[in-house]
Amino acid sequence: MSGISLSSYRRVTVKIGSALLVDRAAGLRREWLAALVDDVARLAAAGTEVLVVSSGAIALGRTVLGLGRRALRLEESQAAAAVGQIALAGAWSGELGRHGLISGQVLVTLGDTEERRRYLNARATISTLLKMRAIPVINENDTVATSEIRYGDNDRLAARVATMMGGDLLVLLSDVDGLYTAAPERDPTARFIPVVDRITPEIMAMGGAAASDLSRGGMRTKLDAGRIATAAGVAMIIASGKQLGPLSAIDRGARATLFKPSPMPVRAYKTWIAGQLEPAGRIGIDDGALRALLQGKSLLPAGVKRVEGAFSRGDTVAIMGPDGREAGRGLVAYDAADAVKIAGLKTGDIAAVLGYEARAAMVHRDDLVLSQPTGEADKRKVEGTDVAGA
Ligand code: GLU
Repeated sequence: MSGISLSSYRRVTVKIGSALLVDRAAGLRREWLAALVDDVARLAAAGTEVLVVSSGAIALGRTVLGLGRRALRLEESQAAAAVGQIALAGAWSGELGRHGLISGQVLVTLGDTEERRRYLNARATISTLLKMRAIPVINENDTVATSEIRYGDNDRLAARVATMMGGDLLVLLSDVDGLYTAAPERDPTARFIPVVDRITPEIMAMGGAAASDLSRGGMRTKLDAGRIATAAGVAMIIASGKQLGPLSAIDRGARATLFKPSPMPVRAYKTWIAGQLEPAGRIGIDDGALRALLQGKSLLPAGVKRVEGAFSRGDTVAIMGPDGREAGRGLVAYDAADAVKIAGLKTGDIAAVLGYEARAAMVHRDDLVLSQPTGEADKRKVEGTDVAGA
Protein backbone atom coordinates (compact mmCIF):
# COMPACT_ATOMS: atom_id res chain seq x y z
CA MET A 1 0.00 0.00 0.00
CA SER A 2 1.27 3.47 -0.73
CA GLY A 3 0.11 7.00 -0.34
CA ILE A 4 -0.78 6.74 3.34
CA SER A 5 0.35 9.63 5.42
CA LEU A 6 -0.53 9.21 9.07
CA SER A 7 0.04 12.87 9.82
CA SER A 8 -2.75 13.78 7.41
CA TYR A 9 -5.14 12.39 10.01
CA ARG A 10 -6.42 14.55 12.82
CA ARG A 11 -6.87 12.05 15.64
CA VAL A 12 -5.21 8.66 15.46
CA THR A 13 -5.70 5.76 17.85
CA VAL A 14 -2.79 3.31 17.79
CA LYS A 15 -3.36 -0.15 19.25
CA ILE A 16 -0.31 -2.15 20.16
CA GLY A 17 -0.46 -5.90 20.57
CA SER A 18 1.14 -7.67 23.54
CA ALA A 19 3.51 -9.74 21.42
CA LEU A 20 5.16 -6.56 20.12
CA LEU A 21 5.79 -5.00 23.49
CA VAL A 22 6.62 -8.02 25.56
CA ASP A 23 9.15 -10.77 25.08
CA ARG A 24 8.36 -13.88 27.08
CA ALA A 25 11.85 -14.26 28.43
CA ALA A 26 13.22 -10.74 28.49
CA GLY A 27 10.10 -8.81 29.41
CA LEU A 28 9.45 -5.36 28.02
CA ARG A 29 11.02 -4.71 24.61
CA ARG A 30 12.43 -1.30 25.43
CA GLU A 31 14.14 -0.64 22.14
CA TRP A 32 10.92 -1.34 20.27
CA LEU A 33 8.94 0.92 22.57
CA ALA A 34 11.49 3.72 22.24
CA ALA A 35 11.28 3.60 18.44
CA LEU A 36 7.48 3.53 18.52
CA VAL A 37 7.44 6.53 20.80
CA ASP A 38 9.78 8.34 18.39
CA ASP A 39 7.06 7.82 15.76
CA VAL A 40 4.33 9.00 18.13
CA ALA A 41 6.31 12.11 19.00
CA ARG A 42 6.82 12.88 15.32
CA LEU A 43 3.07 12.62 14.70
CA ALA A 44 2.30 14.77 17.73
CA ALA A 45 4.78 17.38 16.53
CA ALA A 46 2.99 17.41 13.17
CA GLY A 47 -0.24 18.30 14.98
CA THR A 48 -1.90 14.87 14.94
CA GLU A 49 -3.48 13.86 18.22
CA VAL A 50 -2.44 10.37 19.22
CA LEU A 51 -4.18 7.99 21.58
CA VAL A 52 -2.36 4.81 22.50
CA VAL A 53 -4.18 1.59 23.35
CA SER A 54 -1.47 -0.57 24.84
CA SER A 55 -1.85 -4.26 25.49
CA GLY A 56 0.76 -6.21 27.33
CA ALA A 57 -0.19 -5.91 30.98
CA ILE A 58 -0.91 -9.59 31.47
CA ALA A 59 2.02 -10.73 29.33
CA LEU A 60 4.43 -8.44 31.14
CA GLY A 61 3.10 -9.35 34.58
CA ARG A 62 3.50 -13.00 33.69
CA THR A 63 7.16 -12.42 32.92
CA VAL A 64 7.81 -10.28 36.00
CA LEU A 65 6.14 -12.88 38.22
CA GLY A 66 7.91 -15.77 36.51
CA LEU A 67 4.67 -17.57 35.71
CA GLY A 68 6.03 -19.20 32.58
CA ARG A 69 3.73 -20.35 29.83
CA ARG A 70 1.16 -22.26 31.82
CA ALA A 71 -2.51 -21.37 31.57
CA LEU A 72 -3.49 -18.89 34.28
CA ARG A 73 -6.57 -18.97 36.43
CA LEU A 74 -8.71 -15.85 36.17
CA GLU A 75 -7.44 -14.37 39.41
CA GLU A 76 -3.87 -15.15 38.41
CA SER A 77 -4.18 -13.29 35.14
CA GLN A 78 -5.82 -10.43 36.99
CA ALA A 79 -2.92 -10.35 39.41
CA ALA A 80 -0.49 -10.55 36.49
CA ALA A 81 -2.31 -7.60 34.90
CA ALA A 82 -1.92 -5.59 38.10
CA VAL A 83 1.83 -6.21 38.18
CA GLY A 84 2.24 -5.75 34.44
CA GLN A 85 0.12 -2.62 34.11
CA ILE A 86 2.13 -0.59 36.57
CA ALA A 87 5.35 -1.45 34.77
CA LEU A 88 3.77 -0.84 31.39
CA ALA A 89 2.44 2.58 32.36
CA GLY A 90 5.83 3.50 33.82
CA ALA A 91 7.56 2.53 30.59
CA TRP A 92 5.18 4.58 28.45
CA SER A 93 5.45 7.59 30.67
CA GLY A 94 9.25 7.32 30.73
CA GLU A 95 9.57 7.01 26.94
CA LEU A 96 7.06 9.74 26.13
CA GLY A 97 8.73 11.93 28.74
CA ARG A 98 12.00 11.64 26.84
CA HIS A 99 10.31 13.67 24.11
CA GLY A 100 8.82 16.12 26.59
CA LEU A 101 5.42 14.50 26.20
CA ILE A 102 3.09 13.90 29.12
CA SER A 103 1.07 10.71 29.29
CA GLY A 104 -2.09 9.84 31.17
CA GLN A 105 -3.10 6.29 32.01
CA VAL A 106 -6.73 5.43 31.35
CA LEU A 107 -8.02 1.99 32.35
CA VAL A 108 -11.49 1.21 31.12
CA THR A 109 -14.01 -1.58 31.40
CA LEU A 110 -16.75 -2.42 28.95
CA GLY A 111 -19.36 -0.29 30.71
CA ASP A 112 -17.22 2.79 30.23
CA THR A 113 -17.92 2.81 26.54
CA GLU A 114 -21.28 1.07 26.56
CA GLU A 115 -23.26 2.84 29.26
CA ARG A 116 -24.33 6.34 28.54
CA ARG A 117 -23.35 8.04 31.79
CA ARG A 118 -19.99 6.34 32.09
CA TYR A 119 -19.38 6.79 28.41
CA LEU A 120 -19.77 10.51 28.78
CA ASN A 121 -17.38 10.41 31.74
CA ALA A 122 -14.70 8.43 29.98
CA ARG A 123 -14.97 10.59 26.91
CA ALA A 124 -14.73 13.80 28.91
CA THR A 125 -11.59 12.59 30.67
CA ILE A 126 -9.83 11.49 27.51
CA SER A 127 -10.93 14.60 25.71
CA THR A 128 -9.50 16.72 28.53
CA LEU A 129 -6.20 14.86 28.37
CA LEU A 130 -6.02 15.63 24.65
CA LYS A 131 -6.81 19.28 25.27
CA MET A 132 -3.98 19.35 27.78
CA ARG A 133 -1.73 17.86 25.09
CA ALA A 134 -1.22 14.69 27.10
CA ILE A 135 -1.13 11.33 25.34
CA PRO A 136 -3.77 8.98 26.71
CA VAL A 137 -2.35 5.49 27.25
CA ILE A 138 -5.36 3.23 27.44
CA ASN A 139 -5.89 -0.41 28.39
CA GLU A 140 -8.68 -2.52 29.70
CA ASN A 141 -8.81 -2.59 33.48
CA ASP A 142 -7.97 -6.27 33.51
CA THR A 143 -7.56 -6.50 37.27
CA VAL A 144 -11.26 -5.94 37.87
CA ALA A 145 -12.94 -6.80 34.57
CA THR A 146 -14.21 -10.36 34.39
CA SER A 147 -15.89 -12.33 31.61
CA GLU A 148 -19.20 -10.71 30.77
CA ILE A 149 -18.06 -7.21 31.65
CA ARG A 150 -14.92 -7.30 29.63
CA TYR A 151 -13.98 -6.62 26.06
CA GLY A 152 -11.37 -9.35 26.34
CA ASP A 153 -9.39 -8.00 23.41
CA ASN A 154 -7.90 -4.62 22.77
CA ASP A 155 -8.77 -4.56 19.07
CA ARG A 156 -12.41 -3.90 19.76
CA LEU A 157 -11.58 -1.77 22.77
CA ALA A 158 -9.42 0.42 20.53
CA ALA A 159 -12.21 0.66 17.94
CA ARG A 160 -14.62 1.77 20.64
CA VAL A 161 -12.15 4.34 21.86
CA ALA A 162 -11.53 5.63 18.33
CA THR A 163 -15.24 6.02 17.60
CA MET A 164 -16.05 7.38 21.05
CA MET A 165 -13.39 10.06 20.65
CA GLY A 166 -14.42 11.05 17.15
CA GLY A 167 -11.12 9.90 15.69
CA ASP A 168 -10.51 9.55 12.00
CA LEU A 169 -7.99 6.69 12.01
CA LEU A 170 -7.37 3.52 13.97
CA VAL A 171 -4.08 1.68 13.49
CA LEU A 172 -3.86 -1.91 14.72
CA LEU A 173 -0.24 -2.95 15.15
CA SER A 174 0.38 -6.62 15.75
CA ASP A 175 2.35 -9.48 14.26
CA VAL A 176 0.17 -9.65 11.14
CA ASP A 177 0.88 -7.23 8.32
CA GLY A 178 -2.60 -7.03 6.90
CA LEU A 179 -5.57 -8.97 5.65
CA TYR A 180 -5.16 -12.00 3.41
CA THR A 181 -7.79 -14.03 1.61
CA ALA A 182 -6.77 -16.92 3.88
CA ALA A 183 -4.22 -17.51 6.64
CA PRO A 184 -0.91 -17.00 4.76
CA GLU A 185 1.13 -19.29 7.03
CA ARG A 186 -1.11 -22.23 6.18
CA ASP A 187 -2.44 -21.49 2.72
CA PRO A 188 0.09 -20.80 -0.07
CA THR A 189 -2.65 -19.40 -2.31
CA ALA A 190 -3.50 -16.68 0.22
CA ARG A 191 -3.53 -13.26 -1.40
CA PHE A 192 -2.80 -9.99 0.38
CA ILE A 193 -5.55 -7.37 0.28
CA PRO A 194 -4.22 -3.78 0.33
CA VAL A 195 -7.52 -1.90 0.51
CA VAL A 196 -10.92 -2.91 1.80
CA ASP A 197 -13.72 -0.62 0.68
CA ARG A 198 -16.39 -2.30 2.69
CA ILE A 199 -16.35 -5.11 5.25
CA THR A 200 -18.65 -7.57 3.54
CA PRO A 201 -19.51 -11.08 4.75
CA GLU A 202 -16.81 -12.34 2.32
CA ILE A 203 -14.23 -10.16 4.05
CA MET A 204 -15.43 -11.34 7.47
CA ALA A 205 -15.01 -14.91 6.28
CA MET A 206 -11.31 -14.25 5.67
CA GLY A 207 -10.76 -13.64 9.38
CA GLY A 208 -9.34 -17.01 10.31
CA ALA A 209 -7.35 -17.43 13.49
CA ALA A 210 -4.21 -15.30 13.40
CA ALA A 211 -3.66 -15.09 17.11
CA SER A 212 -0.25 -15.63 18.61
CA ASP A 213 -0.15 -17.09 22.09
CA LEU A 214 0.66 -13.75 23.73
CA SER A 215 -2.27 -11.90 22.28
CA ARG A 216 -5.98 -12.41 22.40
CA GLY A 217 -6.95 -10.69 19.19
CA GLY A 218 -6.81 -12.75 16.03
CA MET A 219 -7.90 -11.50 12.63
CA ARG A 220 -11.48 -12.01 13.65
CA THR A 221 -11.41 -9.39 16.40
CA LYS A 222 -9.53 -7.07 14.05
CA LEU A 223 -12.32 -7.33 11.51
CA ASP A 224 -14.87 -6.79 14.28
CA ALA A 225 -12.91 -3.70 15.22
CA GLY A 226 -12.96 -2.67 11.56
CA ARG A 227 -16.70 -2.96 11.48
CA ILE A 228 -17.12 -0.79 14.53
CA ALA A 229 -14.64 1.79 13.29
CA THR A 230 -15.55 2.06 9.62
CA ALA A 231 -19.30 2.17 10.29
CA ALA A 232 -18.65 5.22 12.43
CA GLY A 233 -16.55 6.93 9.78
CA VAL A 234 -13.14 5.95 11.18
CA ALA A 235 -10.60 4.47 8.76
CA MET A 236 -8.58 1.49 10.00
CA ILE A 237 -5.14 0.17 9.15
CA ILE A 238 -3.85 -3.29 10.01
CA ALA A 239 -0.07 -3.28 9.91
CA SER A 240 2.81 -5.26 11.25
CA GLY A 241 4.56 -3.79 14.21
CA LYS A 242 7.45 -6.22 14.08
CA GLN A 243 10.01 -3.79 12.75
CA LEU A 244 11.27 -0.83 14.71
CA GLY A 245 9.30 2.34 14.04
CA PRO A 246 6.24 0.72 12.46
CA LEU A 247 4.30 3.96 12.10
CA SER A 248 6.94 5.66 10.00
CA ALA A 249 7.22 2.39 8.07
CA ILE A 250 3.54 2.76 7.12
CA ASP A 251 4.26 6.27 5.87
CA ARG A 252 7.11 4.86 3.81
CA GLY A 253 4.75 2.39 2.18
CA ALA A 254 5.23 -0.76 4.24
CA ARG A 255 2.69 -3.48 3.64
CA ALA A 256 -0.60 -2.78 5.42
CA THR A 257 -4.31 -3.10 4.78
CA LEU A 258 -6.41 0.05 4.75
CA PHE A 259 -10.09 -0.26 5.59
CA LYS A 260 -11.93 2.74 4.25
CA PRO A 261 -14.48 4.47 6.42
CA SER A 262 -18.03 3.85 5.38
CA PRO A 263 -19.18 6.49 2.92
CA MET A 264 -22.73 5.62 3.92
CA PRO A 265 -24.00 8.21 6.31
CA VAL A 266 -24.67 5.76 9.14
CA ARG A 267 -25.05 8.67 11.46
CA ALA A 268 -27.77 10.29 9.45
CA TYR A 269 -29.47 6.95 8.89
CA LYS A 270 -29.40 6.04 12.55
CA THR A 271 -30.40 9.51 13.63
CA TRP A 272 -33.34 9.10 11.34
CA ILE A 273 -34.30 5.75 12.91
CA ALA A 274 -33.93 7.15 16.39
CA GLY A 275 -36.01 10.16 15.45
CA GLN A 276 -39.08 8.23 14.30
CA LEU A 277 -41.72 9.79 16.49
CA GLU A 278 -44.32 7.08 16.62
CA PRO A 279 -43.00 3.53 16.44
CA ALA A 280 -45.42 1.15 14.76
CA GLY A 281 -45.04 -1.45 17.48
CA ARG A 282 -43.10 -2.63 20.48
CA ILE A 283 -40.91 -5.64 21.00
CA GLY A 284 -40.16 -6.73 24.56
CA ILE A 285 -36.83 -8.49 25.03
CA ASP A 286 -35.09 -10.46 27.76
CA ASP A 287 -31.89 -9.74 29.65
CA GLY A 288 -29.65 -11.78 27.39
CA ALA A 289 -30.91 -10.00 24.30
CA LEU A 290 -30.39 -6.62 25.94
CA ARG A 291 -26.80 -7.56 26.78
CA ALA A 292 -26.25 -8.64 23.19
CA LEU A 293 -27.62 -5.33 21.91
CA LEU A 294 -25.32 -3.42 24.24
CA GLN A 295 -22.42 -5.33 22.71
CA GLY A 296 -23.44 -4.13 19.29
CA LYS A 297 -25.20 -7.31 18.16
CA SER A 298 -28.47 -7.76 16.34
CA LEU A 299 -31.75 -8.62 18.03
CA LEU A 300 -32.50 -12.29 17.41
CA PRO A 301 -35.97 -13.82 17.73
CA ALA A 302 -34.69 -16.02 20.60
CA GLY A 303 -34.51 -13.01 22.92
CA VAL A 304 -37.99 -11.69 22.12
CA LYS A 305 -40.59 -12.06 24.87
CA ARG A 306 -43.45 -9.88 23.65
CA VAL A 307 -44.71 -8.43 20.39
CA GLU A 308 -47.22 -5.58 20.30
CA GLY A 309 -48.72 -3.58 17.46
CA ALA A 310 -49.67 -4.19 13.84
CA PHE A 311 -46.39 -3.37 12.16
CA SER A 312 -45.13 -4.42 8.76
CA ARG A 313 -41.66 -5.48 7.80
CA GLY A 314 -39.44 -2.39 7.64
CA ASP A 315 -41.45 -0.36 10.13
CA THR A 316 -39.78 1.23 13.10
CA VAL A 317 -40.41 -0.58 16.37
CA ALA A 318 -39.48 0.35 19.90
CA ILE A 319 -37.41 -2.30 21.67
CA MET A 320 -38.37 -2.57 25.31
CA GLY A 321 -35.92 -3.88 27.87
CA PRO A 322 -36.87 -6.29 30.69
CA ASP A 323 -37.34 -3.28 32.97
CA GLY A 324 -40.07 -1.96 30.67
CA ARG A 325 -37.99 0.96 29.46
CA GLU A 326 -37.25 1.65 25.84
CA ALA A 327 -33.84 0.19 25.08
CA GLY A 328 -33.71 1.28 21.48
CA ARG A 329 -35.43 1.53 18.14
CA GLY A 330 -34.95 -0.27 14.92
CA LEU A 331 -36.39 -1.33 11.62
CA VAL A 332 -38.05 -4.70 12.07
CA ALA A 333 -37.36 -7.50 9.63
CA TYR A 334 -40.71 -9.26 10.04
CA ASP A 335 -44.41 -8.41 9.93
CA ALA A 336 -46.09 -8.48 13.31
CA ALA A 337 -47.89 -11.76 12.59
CA ASP A 338 -44.64 -13.56 11.79
CA ALA A 339 -42.82 -11.87 14.65
CA VAL A 340 -45.38 -13.32 17.07
CA LYS A 341 -44.87 -16.80 15.62
CA ILE A 342 -41.09 -16.78 15.97
CA ALA A 343 -40.73 -14.89 19.24
CA GLY A 344 -38.48 -16.92 21.53
CA LEU A 345 -37.36 -19.32 18.80
CA LYS A 346 -33.79 -20.28 18.04
CA THR A 347 -32.56 -19.23 14.61
CA GLY A 348 -32.48 -22.82 13.33
CA ASP A 349 -36.18 -23.35 14.13
CA ILE A 350 -37.54 -20.31 12.36
CA ALA A 351 -37.79 -21.62 8.81
CA ALA A 352 -39.89 -24.61 9.89
CA VAL A 353 -42.41 -22.36 11.62
CA LEU A 354 -42.66 -19.71 8.93
CA GLY A 355 -42.42 -22.06 5.99
CA TYR A 356 -39.70 -19.97 4.37
CA GLU A 357 -36.01 -19.31 4.85
CA ALA A 358 -35.89 -16.00 6.68
CA ARG A 359 -33.43 -13.53 8.09
CA ALA A 360 -31.80 -14.50 11.35
CA ALA A 361 -32.28 -11.12 13.00
CA MET A 362 -35.57 -9.66 14.17
CA VAL A 363 -33.85 -6.27 14.05
CA HIS A 364 -30.44 -6.14 12.40
CA ARG A 365 -27.69 -4.23 14.18
CA ASP A 366 -27.28 -1.92 11.20
CA ASP A 367 -30.91 -0.90 11.50
CA LEU A 368 -30.84 -0.41 15.23
CA VAL A 369 -30.18 2.54 17.49
CA LEU A 370 -29.90 2.10 21.22
CA SER A 371 -31.37 4.63 23.59
CA GLN A 372 -28.18 4.23 25.55
CA PRO A 373 -25.32 4.92 23.18
CA THR A 374 -22.95 2.06 22.42
CA GLY A 375 -19.83 3.85 21.37
CA GLU A 376 -20.67 4.40 17.76
CA ALA A 377 -21.12 7.39 15.60
CA ASP A 378 -24.64 8.38 16.49
CA LYS A 379 -23.31 9.53 19.86
CA ARG A 380 -20.83 11.84 18.30
CA LYS A 381 -23.57 13.31 16.23
CA VAL A 382 -25.62 14.13 19.28
CA GLU A 383 -22.99 15.11 21.80
CA GLY A 384 -19.79 15.32 19.91
CA THR A 385 -19.21 19.01 19.33
CA ASP A 386 -16.98 19.35 22.36
CA VAL A 387 -14.87 16.44 21.17
CA ALA A 388 -14.61 17.58 17.60
CA GLY A 389 -13.49 20.98 18.75
CA ALA A 390 -11.08 19.68 21.36
N1 GLU B 1 -5.67 -6.05 28.04
C1 GLU B 1 -4.77 -7.12 27.82
C2 GLU B 1 -3.42 -6.81 28.43
O1 GLU B 1 -3.03 -5.68 28.51
C3 GLU B 1 -4.54 -7.44 26.37
C4 GLU B 1 -5.72 -7.77 25.54
C5 GLU B 1 -5.29 -8.05 24.09
O2 GLU B 1 -4.19 -8.53 23.88
O3 GLU B 1 -6.07 -7.75 23.17
O4 GLU B 1 -2.69 -7.69 28.82
